[in-house]
Amino acid sequence: MDKAVISKRSRGKPGASAPSPRPSRADAEAAVRTLIRWAGDDPDREGLKSTPARVVRAYEEWFSGYSDDPSEYLKRTFEETGGYDEVVVLRDIRFESHCEHHLAPIIGRVHIGYLPRNRVVGISKLARLVEVFARRLQIQEKMTAEIASCLDAVLKPHGVAVVTEATHQCMTTRGVHKPGVTMVTSRMLGVFRDHAETRQEFLSAIGMRGVVHGNGTG
Ligand SMILES: [Zn+2]
Repeated sequence: MDKAVISKRSRGKPGASAPSPRPSRADAEAAVRTLIRWAGDDPDREGLKSTPARVVRAYEEWFSGYSDDPSEYLKRTFEETGGYDEVVVLRDIRFESHCEHHLAPIIGRVHIGYLPRNRVVGISKLARLVEVFARRLQIQEKMTAEIASCLDAVLKPHGVAVVTEATHQCMTTRGVHKPGVTMVTSRMLGVFRDHAETRQEFLSAIGMRGVVHGNGTG
C-alpha cells in the first residue's frame, strides 16, 4: 500500500527556519479574490463567484507533492531479479509541474535509467516518484536532481541517470514569448557519470544519443 506521509516538517522548505503556519482555506480563497481584482475583474460577478474555491481545490491537487514522502514509494523493491544486471530505462514519464518563479505550468517528460545492484523497483513507483517532485513549486534543474538523488539514496544502484525535457509556460506565454523551446536538464550519477559507454547506452535508449554529457546539468 502506498501511504502518504504527512508531517509538519515536509510542509516547509527543507532547511528553512520555522515555516509560518499554513493559511486557512478562507485565507487562500481571499488571496485568489485579490488576484482577480488585480487582474482587473470583479470577483463578485456571476462567472467568477466560485472561482476562488475552484482555484484553491486545484492548488490542492497541483501541490499535493508537499505532503508525500517520495522515498516511501521506493521502499518496496524486488530482489528476485534473475541475475539481471543491465541498465533499466523508463522513458517518457509525462509530468506537469509549476515554476517557482511565476507559478506557471512546466510540462514535459522525464526519462529515468538505473543500473540495479540486486534490487529493482516497480515501474509505477518510478512514475509516482516523478509525480511527487513535480507536484511542488519547482525549477527544472532542481526537480531533475531531486529525482536522481532520491533514487540513488533509496535503491543504492550502481548509477542513476535522469533526463528531463520540458516547456515552461512562463517562457512561452509571457516574457520572451518563445513557443517551441524545450529545456533539457540531466543528472548523471555513479556509472552513468563515470562511464561514457553506459551513459551513451542510456541516451540511445531515450533517443538522445550524444546530446547530454556527464557533467551534471546538460
Ligand atoms: Zn517561471
